[in-house]
Amino acid sequence: MTLTGRVALVTGASRGIGRGIALALAAAGAKVGVNYTTAGEAAAQVVGEIVAGGGEALAVPGDVAAAGEVDRLVKQVLERFGRIDILVNNAGITRDNLLLRMKDEEWDRVLEVDLRGAFYCTRAVARQLLKQRWGRIINISSVVGLTGNAGQANYAAAKAGMIGFTRSVARELASRGITANVVCPGYVETDMTGALPPAAKTALLEQIPLGRAGTAGDVAQAVVFLAGPGAEYITGQTICVDGGMTMQ
Ligand code: NAP
Repeated sequence: MTLTGRVALVTGASRGIGRGIALALAAAGAKVGVNYTTAGEAAAQVVGEIVAGGGEALAVPGDVAAAGEVDRLVKQVLERFGRIDILVNNAGITRDNLLLRMKDEEWDRVLEVDLRGAFYCTRAVARQLLKQRWGRIINISSVVGLTGNAGQANYAAAKAGMIGFTRSVARELASRGITANVVCPGYVETDMTGALPPAAKTALLEQIPLGRAGTAGDVAQAVVFLAGPGAEYITGQTICVDGGMTMQ
């Protein structure tokens, strides 16, 4: 229970990787704010699972791309738990299209949710972390932010942007005991990747040296490590949890 006494806020925690992160942080002893936009029932189930396991959690609705909603949901977590120590910027969407067909709205919405959302949440939570002079910011990017991907120029730009954003935040807040790191998942089977055609899934699996898709739990364990005492001296780094897909 390395995170006993800590309070975490995980964005997009109703489903997929965010859900896995919320459950793993709670299993390590943290109280968890479970953010979502539309999947209220799923978020309530995550909270229920944490409470059934003897933990504490609160479902907090809000669109990370709307600054007012972010301020409100951060306030809700603070009112309930009195502090926030760990922020996991996980909420993300895709709107894939080839470059010449990509609509302004597809570009804008992915940048708004995946990148601007991380900025809004980090800005809102950083005020509290600075007061506490301790904090862990963990941003969920993607291997696509490192390698690029045909049909995902918007998503790759947002995810690469997240890495530069994290390094800047890490430098700016380091002197106050706050670290900021990036986790880049490879291919994880969730609703986001569920729509991929079977041939695309097979092609992805063939690129993974460890021979299987990742799980939300695989990503969550890296997040728990970065939030915990073992990662005290690590900041501004990018860790790929991808079965070796992008090793160099
Ligand atoms: P997912 O299954 O589609 O779940 C997305 C989560 O984000 C949901 O909880 C959703 O909440 C929430 N969300 C979406 N828009 C939001 C918004 N505007 N404000 C707040 N929450 C919002 O996706 P996933 O596969 O778990 O992906 C999670 C993160 O990992 C994303 O950042 C993604 O880019 C990254 N990632 C995923 C993979 C992969 O293979 N799956 C690989 C690399 C990186 P609601 O359901 O309530 O809308």
